[in-house]
Amino acid sequence: MDAAWLRKRLELEKLMGVDALMTGPSAPAAPGIEEELAAAQEQVAVCRACRLHEGRTHTVFARGNPRAELMFVGEAPGHEEDVQGYPFVGPAGKLLDRMIFAMGLRREEVYVANILKCRPPNNREPRPDEIEACYPFLKRQIELVSPRIICTLGRPASNTLLRTNAAMGALRGRWHTFDGIRLMPTYHPAYLLRSPGQKRVAWQDLKLVIVALNEG
Ligand code: URA
Repeated sequence: MDAAWLRKRLELEKLMGVDALMTGPSAPAAPGIEEELAAAQEQVAVCRACRLHEGRTHTVFARGNPRAELMFVGEAPGHEEDVQGYPFVGPAGKLLDRMIFAMGLRREEVYVANILKCRPPNNREPRPDEIEACYPFLKRQIELVSPRIICTLGRPASNTLLRTNAAMGALRGRWHTFDGIRLMPTYHPAYLLRSPGQKRVAWQDLKLVIVALNEG
């Protein structure tokens, strides 16, 4: 019985669904990242853990590639995101897309999520109890996507993942870690729309991200 014959035989048996006879009873295939994320998204869709569920049109889970090397984490859905059910689809999202493009990436290549999955009334800042209630969903998303790099957009996202209260000026432009993942805080695109002079500074942060991504 030579090796080539045995390989062919095993392939044939596998094709006929009898490989279990050779290998013993096999466990059902574990759900993949996409399935696990879809399950988390379903939980978010029915979540009532904080008062924000009362005013939402849609929950806003994420957009982009679940196997991305780079994950952006923003603050919370705004009006347009609440209507459409996707993060960063309003004016700040258009700028984020341009930032991603300037980094040499396509929006479909990165994963984008927020710390909150429901829109706060009048786009006010997320409250600590809302962040706490929503945090397990973001944590699960990070676990599943397992990006090489996280880029937090603005103070609420940066402070939440870094467990600090520091101002953006003290955080941005240098590397931090979240659960062993390199994390770069930078300014939120909505802030950059209000303060275009800071775009140059944010670009310095993004260049550090590009270098780190290219380090492989
Ligand atoms: N701002 C955010 O932080 N997230 C969005 O999804 C939209 C605007």
